[in-house]
Amino acid sequence: MPFSYRVFVYGLICSSFITLALGLYSLRYRDKPVALIFTGLSLVMSLYSFSSVMSAYSPDFQLADLWLNKIRYIAIVLVPVFFLCFVLAYESRFQYLTFGRIIPLLAFPVYDLYMIFSPQYHQLFIKSATFSRVDGLVMRVNWVPGPWFWVHTSYCYLLLAGALGILLWSAWKHSAPYRQQVLLLLLGALLPLLANVVVTWRFTQYKVLDLTSFGFSYTGLVFAFALFRFRLLDLVPIARDRVLECINDAVLVLDLKGRIVDVNPAGEVLIGLGKKEAVGKMVEECLRVPYNFFELLRDEDNCQVEIERPLPENPEAIFELQVSRLRLRGGDWVGILVVGRDVSERVAMVDDRETIIRELEAVQAELTRQVKYDFLTRVYSRQYFIGIAAQEQNRALRYQRPLSLIMIDIDNFKRVNDTFGHEVGDRVLVDVARTIKAELRVVDILARFGGEEFVVLLPETGLLQARQVADKIRMKVAAMMVSGNDEGGREIQVTVSLGLTSLNGRVKGLDDLLRLADQAMYAAKADGRNCLREKVPA
Ligand code: GH3
Ligand code: MG
Ligand code: MG
Repeated sequence: MPFSYRVFVYGLICSSFITLALGLYSLRYRDKPVALIFTGLSLVMSLYSFSSVMSAYSPDFQLADLWLNKIRYIAIVLVPVFFLCFVLAYESRFQYLTFGRIIPLLAFPVYDLYMIFSPQYHQLFIKSATFSRVDGLVMRVNWVPGPWFWVHTSYCYLLLAGALGILLWSAWKHSAPYRQQVLLLLLGALLPLLANVVVTWRFTQYKVLDLTSFGFSYTGLVFAFALFRFRLLDLVPIARDRVLECINDAVLVLDLKGRIVDVNPAGEVLIGLGKKEAVGKMVEECLRVPYNFFELLRDEDNCQVEIERPLPENPEAIFELQVSRLRLRGGDWVGILVVGRDVSERVAMVDDRETIIRELEAVQAELTRQVKYDFLTRVYSRQYFIGIAAQEQNRALRYQRPLSLIMIDIDNFKRVNDTFGHEVGDRVLVDVARTIKAELRVVDILARFGGEEFVVLLPETGLLQARQVADKIRMKVAAMMVSGNDEGGREIQVTVSLGLTSLNGRVKGLDDLLRLADQAMYAAKADGRNCLREKVPA
């Protein structure tokens, strides 16, 4: 005999342990679906070899038959399913890895196993198998498959072909480093398949030994290498490619000459060129930015710039570009990564917000102005006057400072309105206010107190001084001429009656002051108008 069957069986034992060990090792990464599926795949591959070993060491042929022609099939039917799932997980096509999709895939294998284990149908699967003792171990020397075996084999090959097809497609689609990794997986998968094909098609002429087990240990090792050595479990490159394809951010990769070497779909939109045309072009040519990326990165590894970039659907699009150096692990600068994000909406929102804030501020200022000033005469309003006059009065009381208040009312103003109309009346009000104001100091506070009534607070001013101010006001107003704007070209002359009061020990609050000034003003009216009266508490 040219080979030792015993050596072959030792090989099977090794194979069984290698795949078992890989499966258990992979459990360390069990939080990742691809690792869990790899564990499953490894365990069924291990069961495949293990049942062959158990068959070889069986005390009798019946037990050997149970291991080899029944239990081993549990592994045989499951390997293609696990393999397909593994490839799907590796390619991050998790949408296909749902229970709803896996369960139908398992229906056929379950039916296979039913055939295999049922005494009635077993013959449809395996017509006959002959065992013999070789090297003191049990060996299957011949076997004849039943018709169902071919159905089963076709199904298994179909799944495997599907999985290999996905890998091939992925190798075709991805660029250099990822392609090599996928090709590695392909190679790993092909060896046991080739062994299996040889075994399946040459079984009759040659007492061939099933080499599939050895293929499996090779597969396991290669897959594990691909998974753990390249740390693909941490960042499957295909998934990375996917992310690049799906994200809305534009991604451009530039070499050290500034040429585009890669661009994702969002990047194609940004530069307005397809990947095929863009690759190899200078980035400035495609982006037409006023920046030189190398200049930007001279002193730092990352920087951010904003560019205007008209898009077909948004002629005012604004992009924020994150430009960073691409470095190798050793630190060598090998290229530039540009990630562009359309920030038009954000910019527009910020602009809108600033506009709204500006408008609100204007409205607020206008409201404050309206509350503070009388809209017609532009002197202080009554409510604003009350506020500051109270403060002035408190200050004067506390520091024993003089303070005077004059109440001014236009005489017979109703008549002006009745004769010349309200508009002219308004003009008279404005002119009277201006005339009064002209007689005051900056610190004096003038307010429109009512319709045709004004009030003046004179800080640091005693009765004597205030009297002079009031008289001057009275005379200036009386001397004032306002055009009547009527046909006769009449001029209007108005007079005012004034009530004066001053702070003294008996006056308590602002109300007191106002009341006294009012009473004095009415006294002036009673005394014939166009005059000044004073009232201070005795
Ligand atoms: P007196 O000498 O007794 O003060 O007589 P008078 O007519 O001035 O007094 P009265 O209180 O009877 O009338 C005040 C008038 O002031 C009534 C109203 O038509 C007028 N008036 C009040 N506010 C305004 C205003 O904003 N514009 C105009 N044009 N007239 C006003
Ligand atoms: Mg009045
Ligand atoms: Mg009046």
